[in-house]
Amino acid sequence: MIRSDRTAARFILLVAALAAVSCSNHLGPHRDLLVGVPATTAPIPADDELSVTYLGVNGYLLRCGGQSILVDPFFSRVPMHHALFGGTIAPQPDALAQGRRAGALPDRIDAFLVTHSHFDHILDVPPLHAQLGGKIVTSETGAFLCEAAGTPRPALLPSSPGAVHRFGPTTVHVLSAQHVLVFGTVPFPGEITAPLSEAPTKPKDWVLGTPLAFLVEMGGRRIYIESGGVLGSPPPVSGVDLAIVGTALGGQSDRYPEAARALSATYVLPSHQDNFVRPLEDGFHFSPLSDFPKIKSLHCNERLPGQLVLMDYFHTWTLPGPPK
Ligand SMILES: [Zn+2]
Repeated sequence: MIRSDRTAARFILLVAALAAVSCSNHLGPHRDLLVGVPATTAPIPADDELSVTYLGVNGYLLRCGGQSILVDPFFSRVPMHHALFGGTIAPQPDALAQGRRAGALPDRIDAFLVTHSHFDHILDVPPLHAQLGGKIVTSETGAFLCEAAGTPRPALLPSSPGAVHRFGPTTVHVLSAQHVLVFGTVPFPGEITAPLSEAPTKPKDWVLGTPLAFLVEMGGRRIYIESGGVLGSPPPVSGVDLAIVGTALGGQSDRYPEAARALSATYVLPSHQDNFVRPLEDGFHFSPLSDFPKIKSLHCNERLPGQLVLMDYFHTWTLPGPPK
């Protein structure tokens, strides 16, 4: 009880810090690193191509021919005063519809991949799954949360590191991961090991579960995706075409060089850097807790492997060149 109070207090501090900042903090100064075109204008990639669409926070659509994978989609941007004052949060149908349009999401999805069970990664998964179908690869905790939110059990693939899933020609390897520390601790820790008697309604109900990362083999490419990590636990794969690396907190940027060296990617895309308490229609603003200039200088000064790239909301990038 004491621990959860402390966690809640830290979460309130985090949200208050995000909400307090109103200054602009756009991608403009880094436009030389931007890749992709508006998703609504992007061609569907061929069977031997792979495209990535950025959906905000840590949300991505990976596409190759007729295959589609959604990672951590989160469009609802729930009103944070509800979270601050112990209110309820819920998926926002209008935001889901707008996100589907702006991201040019296909009508059917092969699989959802969920890196962990905090609400900014999983809240929108059950309603989007109800619309788009497919399987949901998540931790055991995430599976119980989705089931409580209405997802039929057969659609769920509760997974631990080491699991491998195949969706047609696409292979998904489930990898171990760590959650970033926020003010020295992990927000809303915990596991759910039995069916819930009622649906989750408050931020604290979406407990972390086992954090996961993924290696997606699709369209002849290898894509690594995580939502963050800690120093001393580098990603367990190397030599990928694209590494999507969680960099939500500037204070944790010491971990970035270790991750980039381990991954040895052709392209590195820092992720989860945006201010997710602002509505998506406001456009991309860096979170005041992130520090992309520091990431950029580390990448250049330490000559880390891979070309550093950035993506704007609802932009689609077809990976260029031959696979690594
Ligand atoms: Zn989280």
